[in-house]
Amino acid sequence: ATPTAILVGTTIGAEKGLLIKGGDILEQVKNLKTIVFDKTGTITEGIPSITTILSFHPEFNHQSILQIASSLEMVSNHPLAQGIIKQAQNQSLTTLKTHELSAVSGKGVKGIIEINEQLSWFYLGNPSWLEDHQISITTEILEQVNPLEAQGKTVVYLAQNSHIVGVIALGDKIRPFARETVKNLQNMGLEVMIMSGDRPDVVKYIAEKVGIEQYYGDLTPQGKCDLIQQIQQKNPHQLVAMVGDGINDAPAMSTAQIAIAMAQGAEVALKSAGIVLTRGKLPDLITAINLSKMTLKKIK
Ligand code: ADP
Ligand code: MG
Repeated sequence: ATPTAILVGTTIGAEKGLLIKGGDILEQVKNLKTIVFDKTGTITEGIPSITTILSFHPEFNHQSILQIASSLEMVSNHPLAQGIIKQAQNQSLTTLKTHELSAVSGKGVKGIIEINEQLSWFYLGNPSWLEDHQISITTEILEQVNPLEAQGKTVVYLAQNSHIVGVIALGDKIRPFARETVKNLQNMGLEVMIMSGDRPDVVKYIAEKVGIEQYYGDLTPQGKCDLIQQIQQKNPHQLVAMVGDGINDAPAMSTAQIAIAMAQGAEVALKSAGIVLTRGKLPDLITAINLSKMTLKKIK
């Protein structure tokens, strides 16, 4: 009766917004101990919109900062890129001609743009991205950025050659029922945590909003993998699940024993995940766990 029970389990799953790939995954859920969430696109909706633009250079007003930023973001598929490009389009800003555009996941984008008949390198991204290019952040700039991050806003820096000319802050809505889902998971005895590439202050703000006490920020895609491996090695019989959207967390998802993907996520994530939340609704996670337990009981 085993295959039948599993078939029943996966079929019920499909009706409830879950794509469960095979019976193994249902059995693994039984030993689940830790659930790791990505922040952007998983706990939050992953549709960031601009809340603040600050200029630190008289030659660059808000509009030109936005225009340069969106021109650079053309090379990226990151949710932040989409938020910035959308805002530029809303303001009917044209895309500037760029050269040598490139993106590094978990860091930012760069390219050469001609401004006032002069070519310069522009960089857009997080502090680690600036550091890679020997660009330092002054305390004056930090003083203006810190309160934005403390409010949960993701701040990206725009630099021309070696100087920061402005910043863009973006906010992202927390998904419906995130807090309730976390509470439910905790009540099941699971450890819940967030791992993010975003700044620790931003992660802290979001984590507190949804009731998660363990959170990690400033992680590279590889850093997320390393941390998951550490947790797994501590207790090999207690499994770790990673819930993500595959944007900068695909490696972490394949490192975790159980990968759970959000429906709107990157294709790699949808392909490699054992469970897909096809409606993109966090409470469906609870259904997935309950369903696995129910199916296992039927098998026995
Ligand atoms: P998360 O773990 O929250 O999904 P990511 O690892 O995707 O975060 O990104 C980490 C950080 O790197 C972002 O918060 C942002 O500061 C920076 N970053 C990544 N991609 C881009 C991009 N295309 N444009 C600007 N900044 C970026
Ligand atoms: Mg993400």
